[in-house]
Amino acid sequence: MLLKDKVAIVTGAASPRGLGRSTAKLFAENGAKVVIIDLNEEASVLAAKELGAEHLGLAANVADEKDVERAIEQVIAKYGRVDVLVNNAGISQPLKIMDIKRANYDAVLDVSLRGTLLMSQAVIPFMRKQKSGSIVCISSVSAQRGGGIFGGPHYSAAKAGVLGLARAMARELGPDSIRVNCIAPGLIQTDITAGKLSDEQRLNILTGIPLNRLGDAIDVARAALFLASDLSSYSTGITLDVNGGMLIH
Ligand code: NAD
Repeated sequence: MLLKDKVAIVTGAASPRGLGRSTAKLFAENGAKVVIIDLNEEASVLAAKELGAEHLGLAANVADEKDVERAIEQVIAKYGRVDVLVNNAGISQPLKIMDIKRANYDAVLDVSLRGTLLMSQAVIPFMRKQKSGSIVCISSVSAQRGGGIFGGPHYSAAKAGVLGLARAMARELGPDSIRVNCIAPGLIQTDITAGKLSDEQRLNILTGIPLNRLGDAIDVARAALFLASDLSSYSTGITLDVNGGMLIH
């Protein structure tokens, strides 16, 4: 029970096979009261219900200030505190550099980068009052190696932006005992990647992964549990690679 009685928000956690959903489930199994925030209200409420009666599902676009404000008000009204925020919501587009239009840039950067900023800004005042908190931001190996398999350059930029933002928040919030860390997942089998790999592509990718398998959502969830809980009590500003050895640096 690493998160007993902690209140933990996970964004983008309604997707059934997603990293957020798996993280929310593991957090609930570890005693947290989990708040699932995703775009669709019905899906969020259902995902929270599946975890148990004490959890909460809310609809919000993490890139919309008003939505975020409303969601956090509801969290505080129900639980009175926020201990953990996992900035997981993200979208990806497999575009080449010359094909990125303003709308693509806005969509991808808004969810990962603006969303991480707005959600963090919304919970920081409460964490500061408590003098404790853990913020976990989901970046990507794509930020580290200049492109993943499915994300375009704007996705790499958004996820690299998340690394910088998280490190800067870690410095500023350390004196308030608020820790901020990132996870950089490699290729994890979720709906973002589902059905998009041919057998040949899959084999090619596996030759570059020392652990010789693609990742599962639970691999990332376990890393999130480590960063969210006191197991990582002296770590802030770090990037935890969860990529099977795809990038050893
Ligand atoms: P997913 O598509 O299964 O889940 C993403 C969730 O985010 C969805 O439920 C979606 O509705 C939600 N979402 C999208 N835009 C939102 C918004 N504006 N506000 C609120 N919610 C929103 O994807 P996943 O594979 O579980 O990815 C989760 C995170 O991990 C993303 O940030 C992704 O970029 C990152 N990531 C994934 C992989 C991978 O291989 N799957 C690798 C590296 C990083």
